[in-house]
Amino acid sequence: MIVPLLPGGGDLVERADVCVIGSGAGGAVVAALLAEAGRSVVLLEQGHHWTAKDFTQREEEMLPRLFEEGGMRMTVDGGINILQGRNVGGSTVHNLCYAFRTPEPILRLWREEHGLPELMPGAVEPSFARVEAGLKVKQIREDEVNRMNQIIRAGAEKLGYSGFVTKHNREGCLKAGYCILGCSYDAKQSMLVTYVPRADRAGARIYANARAERIEAEGGRARRVLGHIVGPGGAAHGALEITAPVIVLAAGSIGSPDVLLRSGLANGSNQVGRNLHLHPAAIATGFFEDVIDSYRGIPQSYYIDQFIDLERDPRAGYMLMPITAFPILTAATLPGFGEAHHALMRDYARTAGLLVLLHDQSSGRVESGGSLSKPRITYNLEDRDARQIAEGLVHCAEVLFAAGARRVLVPYWPEPLILERGDDPAVIARRGAAQGEIVLTSVHPQSTCRMGGDPASSVVNAWGECHDVRGLYVADMSVFPTSLGAPPQITTAMLADRTAHRILDTL
Ligand SMILES: Cc1cc2nc3c(=O)[nH]c(=O)nc-3n(C[C@H](O)[C@H](O)[C@H](O)COP(=O)(O)OP(=O)(O)OC[C@H]3O[C@@H](n4cnc5c(N)ncnc54)[C@H](O)[C@@H]3O)c2cc1C
Ligand code: SF4
Repeated sequence: MIVPLLPGGGDLVERADVCVIGSGAGGAVVAALLAEAGRSVVLLEQGHHWTAKDFTQREEEMLPRLFEEGGMRMTVDGGINILQGRNVGGSTVHNLCYAFRTPEPILRLWREEHGLPELMPGAVEPSFARVEAGLKVKQIREDEVNRMNQIIRAGAEKLGYSGFVTKHNREGCLKAGYCILGCSYDAKQSMLVTYVPRADRAGARIYANARAERIEAEGGRARRVLGHIVGPGGAAHGALEITAPVIVLAAGSIGSPDVLLRSGLANGSNQVGRNLHLHPAAIATGFFEDVIDSYRGIPQSYYIDQFIDLERDPRAGYMLMPITAFPILTAATLPGFGEAHHALMRDYARTAGLLVLLHDQSSGRVESGGSLSKPRITYNLEDRDARQIAEGLVHCAEVLFAAGARRVLVPYWPEPLILERGDDPAVIARRGAAQGEIVLTSVHPQSTCRMGGDPASSVVNAWGECHDVRGLYVADMSVFPTSLGAPPQITTAMLADRTAHRILDTL
C-alpha cells in the first residue's frame, strides 16, 4: 500500500530489512527488486503521492506541486535553475522519456580512470536489459515525431548535421505533450506507473510525505533512519524512525549529499557534495511564419549529436534537443512590456525551441543549508564550458534559421538578443555565455556522491555501497563518477539494478 502520511497522524516507527530513501529512477528500482525477492522494504518519499487524475496540465498548479522548491530551486548566485521532482516517482514523473544507455566511452572512462573495472559491457548488459524491459523502452515511430521535431530535423539535415530519432519509455502515448507536468494518461512509463507499483504489489511499505533527515550508523554499519512527516510546504510534523541493517539513499544528487552531510557519514574522502555536474542547458527560440503548435505531440523525439564525439573526447561536447515551453514560462522569458510583449506572445503558436545541453567539465558543490528543504548549491561555469554553450547556441540559431525561422531569440539576461533572418549568429560566440548573463537550466544534477575504486577520492564503491559505512548504499544519479554526456535516467536505473542485486547477494 502507498500511504500518504498526514500531519497530525502521529509518529511512524518501523523495522525492515531495507529502508530506501527516495522513489525516483534509482530508489524505485531498488525497492521493487528487493521486495519482489521477498525482503521487507520500507520506501520513504518526501513528496506526495500524486497520480494521473491530479495532473491538471496547468503549469501554475503543477510546478509548485510537483517540483523541488516549487520549480524555483537555484544555485546560490541565481545563475542556474535546477528542476527536480518531489513526488512519488521522483523526476521520472516530469522527464521527457529520452531513453539512452550509458555511452560506452563514458563507461570506459569510469573503468579506466575511476577504478571501476566491474563496469564491463557484458557485466552491465543484464541490468540494462532488465530496466529497459521494466520501463518498456522502444524506438519512437516516425508517425510519433511531432511537427516541431520534424521542422528542426529538416533544419539540421539541410546543414548536414548528424541526428536521429531516439528511443523512449512511453506506452499507448496519446501525444498530449504535457510530459513535464505529469502524464494524465499513465502513458509515460515513469517510476510512478512501473517500479513503484511493482514494489507495492510485492509488499513494500511505501510512505509519501516522509522526509529522511539523518542516518545513524553503529560500529561502522548502517542502523536507522530518522526524519519527519512533512506537510506540502515542507513543515515537519510527526517523527519517523526506521531501523534497518541496509539503508539505500536515493534522494537524488542534491538530496543524497544533503542527508549524508547532515548525518556526518561516508565523508572520509571529503567528497560528499563535491563534483556536482549539471548538464547546464540554454534554449534558443525560433519564430516561424506558420503555426507549429510545438506543445502538441511528443515534446522530444529527435536528437542532434553532431557536436559530441565521446569516442574522440569523452570530456567535451554538447547535444542539441528540441524543446517546448508552456505559456507562463514563455511569457516570463520574452522581453518587453505591454504591447511589445503582447506582440511576441501572439506568436506563441509559431515558436519552436532548440536547446544546447552541455557535457560539463565545470563543477559545483552541494552543502547543507539552513533549511532542510533548501540545500546550498554552488556551481562555477568555467570559460571553456561557457564557450561551448555559446558555440552551441550559434548552431541552434543556424538550425532554426535553416528550418525557416524568421527570427531567433537567444536568452541573454536581462535583455534577450533577437536575431533576424540574415543576421550572423556568430555574434553569440563573440558575446559568450557566462553564468549569470544567460538563462541556464539544469534537469540533470549528478556526481555528488561519486562512485570509484579509491576510497580517498570517491564516496561509494562499484556497487553503490559507501566505502566508510557497511550496509549504507547510494542508488541515484549522484553516483555517476563524471558528467554523463547523455540523458541519464537509464544509467541511473541500470546502476540501481546492480545495487539491488548486490544487496540481495549480501543480505
Ligand atoms: C524536466 C525533466 C526532464 C528530464 N528528461 C529526461 C529525459 O528525457 N531522459 C532522461 O534520461 N532523463 C531525463 N531527466 C532526468 C531523469 O529524470 C533523472 O535522471 C532521474 O529521475 C534521476 O533519478 P534519481 O533517482 O537520481 O532522482 P529523482 O528521480 O529526482 O528522485 C529522487 C527522489 O527523492 C526524493 N527525496 C529527496 N530528498 C529526500 C529525503 N530527504 N527524504 C525522502 N525523499 C527524498 C525526491 O522527492 C525525489 O522523489 C529529466 C529530468 C527532468 C526534471
Ligand atoms: S505526450 Fe504521451 S507521455 Fe507525454 S503527457 Fe502526453 S500522453 Fe503522456
